[in-house]
Amino acid sequence: MSSQANGPSRKKSALLQARAERLFPGGVNSPVRAFGAVGGAPPFVERAVGAYLYDADGNRYIDYFGSWGPMILGHAFPPVVEAIERAARNSPSFGASTAAEGELAERIVACYPCIEKLRFVSSGTEATMSAIRLARAATGRKLIVKFEGCYHGHADGLLVKAGSGVATFGIPGSAGVPEEIAHLTLALPYNDLAAVEAAFAAHPAAIAAVIVEPIVGNAGCIPPADGYPAGLRAITRREGALLIADEVMTGFRVALGGACELFGLEPDLVTLGKIAGGGLPVGVFAGKREFMDQLAPLGPVYQAGTLSGNPLAMAAGIATIAYLQDHAAEVYPRLESTAHAVAEGVAAEAARAGVSLTTNRIGSMWTWFFTSGPVRNYADAAQSDAAAFGRFHRALLDRGVWLPPSQFEAAFLSTAHGLAEVEATLAAAREAFRAP
Ligand SMILES: *Cc1c(COP(=O)(O)O)cnc(C)c1O
Repeated sequence: MSSQANGPSRKKSALLQARAERLFPGGVNSPVRAFGAVGGAPPFVERAVGAYLYDADGNRYIDYFGSWGPMILGHAFPPVVEAIERAARNSPSFGASTAAEGELAERIVACYPCIEKLRFVSSGTEATMSAIRLARAATGRKLIVKFEGCYHGHADGLLVKAGSGVATFGIPGSAGVPEEIAHLTLALPYNDLAAVEAAFAAHPAAIAAVIVEPIVGNAGCIPPADGYPAGLRAITRREGALLIADEVMTGFRVALGGACELFGLEPDLVTLGKIAGGGLPVGVFAGKREFMDQLAPLGPVYQAGTLSGNPLAMAAGIATIAYLQDHAAEVYPRLESTAHAVAEGVAAEAARAGVSLTTNRIGSMWTWFFTSGPVRNYADAAQSDAAAFGRFHRALLDRGVWLPPSQFEAAFLSTAHGLAEVEATLAAAREAFRAP
């Protein structure tokens, strides 16, 4: 399995990369975009339509990372683009309230019955950071429980044993986070309720909240074991701690009501992002009125944002969520069948070629772990052969298929992906697995 000797030319991308490395640390504005973990040079994207990305040299790629989640309807989806254009003509920002905020909020509440009130921010990081501040204020407690391999954005207290780029680049916990802050975070193995019980027993009446990706996406895709979400709910309720479901990735992705809908989960607080902004910067933290009303200006918990609820972002979010709501009966079954075809199809090619692969998938998010598995937590994911994944990534990229450039990330597809893209991907994977 190796890259084609004569893969597509990426001369312009190489020049742009050289400039980027002079200007940006590692050449990127978010570490997950770098190709350090898989090798090879990242193409620079010029435009994208539907299921395809086009790079600066005119090469075309089937996109399996969808801007890391938001592009569930495919790129440049006309209703979303038109909504952004209309909003832009009315001026991109006012710093005063608009009707669009209420409209997107009502749509989100319709999808998430556990949400009574919400606040818009501009990233998932802000959403989780603010949810934790609220949980500490509401409980008068300091400790936070998170799970190894889960990523909840880059706020200080949430980088302990985090997934996504933190796992990809082998950073145990970020430098620059004082140990006094890191010590307030207890990182436990995912899918292990006994570990959660033990943490509450060891720290009675001291844990403010448990924050969880109900389906892990940021260590690669890891579904919860039967009864795990319900177990977290029961323990936190009994112990007087808040349960925060971080659905920045899974919200509107695995179902209209996310993992909460799939598992009948009723968290105290929910965080959303990615799809909620339709490709523009939106985060949401939300939940029960009794907690949300503790936010300024009603209550003593401060949180603010110059561009929060930005009109362009609200327009893109409304167009995306409205389409999903109006077409849910077609959209989610289509995503399921396309993702099943590509995820299981590549797994079958691997089996035929004698390559050990464990495929974890829920709906249109999945990961091919290069291990014989099973993968139930971060320690299992870390058993994967990252070098083999890197070779697979490079071989697919040279054949016009762009996966997220890390073993510890979930792949996504969109409603724009269909049979042609699945067939092309399977053909590329067949060659990749058989190449010497
Ligand atoms: C992406 C992600 C975040 C962070 O969102 P940003 O918008 O990148 O700050 C938080 N939690 C989860 C589960 C995510 O997938």
